[in-house]
Amino acid sequence: MQTKEFNPFDMAQSQFDKVAEILGLDDGTRQLLRNPLREYHFGIPVRMDDGTFQVFRGFRVQHNDARGPSKGGIRFHPQETADTVKALSMWMTWKCAVVGIPLGGGKGGVICDPHNLSMREQEQICRGWVRQMSKNVGPLNDVPAPDVMTSAQHMLWMLDEYEVIEGSKNPGFITGKPVGMGGSLGRTEATGYGVIFTVREALNDMGISPEDTRASVQGFGNVAQHAIRLYSQMGGTVVCVSSWDQQDQKSYSFKKLSGVDIDELLKITDRFGGIDKAKATNLGYEVLDGDAWIEQDVEILLPAALENQIREDNVDKISAKVKIIAEGANGPTTPAADKVIQERGIFLIPDFLANAGGVTCSYFEQVQSNMNYFWEKDEVLGKLDVKMTAAFQAVNDLAKKRNMYMRDAAYVISISRVAQACKDRGWV
Ligand code: GLU
Repeated sequence: MQTKEFNPFDMAQSQFDKVAEILGLDDGTRQLLRNPLREYHFGIPVRMDDGTFQVFRGFRVQHNDARGPSKGGIRFHPQETADTVKALSMWMTWKCAVVGIPLGGGKGGVICDPHNLSMREQEQICRGWVRQMSKNVGPLNDVPAPDVMTSAQHMLWMLDEYEVIEGSKNPGFITGKPVGMGGSLGRTEATGYGVIFTVREALNDMGISPEDTRASVQGFGNVAQHAIRLYSQMGGTVVCVSSWDQQDQKSYSFKKLSGVDIDELLKITDRFGGIDKAKATNLGYEVLDGDAWIEQDVEILLPAALENQIREDNVDKISAKVKIIAEGANGPTTPAADKVIQERGIFLIPDFLANAGGVTCSYFEQVQSNMNYFWEKDEVLGKLDVKMTAAFQAVNDLAKKRNMYMRDAAYVISISRVAQACKDRGWV
């Protein structure tokens, strides 16, 4: 989240500038790509359950659509800011490019806290967002999806509003819809599974078997839950997971050295990924401070919560045992902490590569929705594995060949693809 000291958009721009220099990009391309193409800010008036009106601030940013329609989630968060959405839209451009899907980058957000809103109020926010944006989004120009604190239900309300406005069925307008209502099998699992596909490849490259590894995970939302499930199925042991406690307004880490049991934890977790502390204690979990996840003696760290989590002030807590950091969240590592990770030689799988499984499956969902023909789950997950593995290999090969940090190698591939598309279209 954006703070006085941390601005995600500054971070996204500095990451871009560094690679623009490596690539020797011309000035026009730099100017074009270091800022979004289009930005929308609007108010969403909602009649609340108690009869009063509240106006929520909404955003949509389309960073770049040279490679295809803008694509990216809509977040509901009380600390959402325009600059966070701008950064996230830019990261979406690089994410779609690194996995080679024909989409651009976009992101949306609403400043609100779903913990304190009824489902009816959330539905009104979803419908209001679409009413404000319907002219500027759509299957052929900008396709939203779920993100932090938005789900398949939110997507369906948004689709319904869009279809009412358009007067026709447009299931390709939005992805992450419920299965049976235009959603794709495997979409819920896709981001978390994708993270683990890249971890599997990294381990394989290092000659380490997953059974010989332990992991510590930050966050217990959709991405973390599915990553933990697949990693455990591969034989790995998750010893610690942290989650946000809405009542205490802070997070806690839950530790079990014998390994957390995902199904056991899900039974004591609310729909926002909040784990019940008392119940966890009864099940033998040690409840620790929120930051404890980062200092565990594990081989793998999976930050899968929000941005600005691995910083200068806590990066030194990372154990000497850690070999891989796979960024399930967008922007979890600040540039200062990133430098330390690089110097320590930890193998980093950067966010826009590690968590690209979600948007890759969204692309499959779009294709299926537009065809109105839906695939079996194995087919979806198989195709996802192929795309993620190929993207990982391309970045890893480049990193090795040019002796580059993985984040820089991923950026080199993405930025050159997007820059080329802009050039080929005659934009710069
Ligand atoms: N919100 C997810 C992301 O950050 C998925 C985006 C999408 O499916 O379009 O990658």
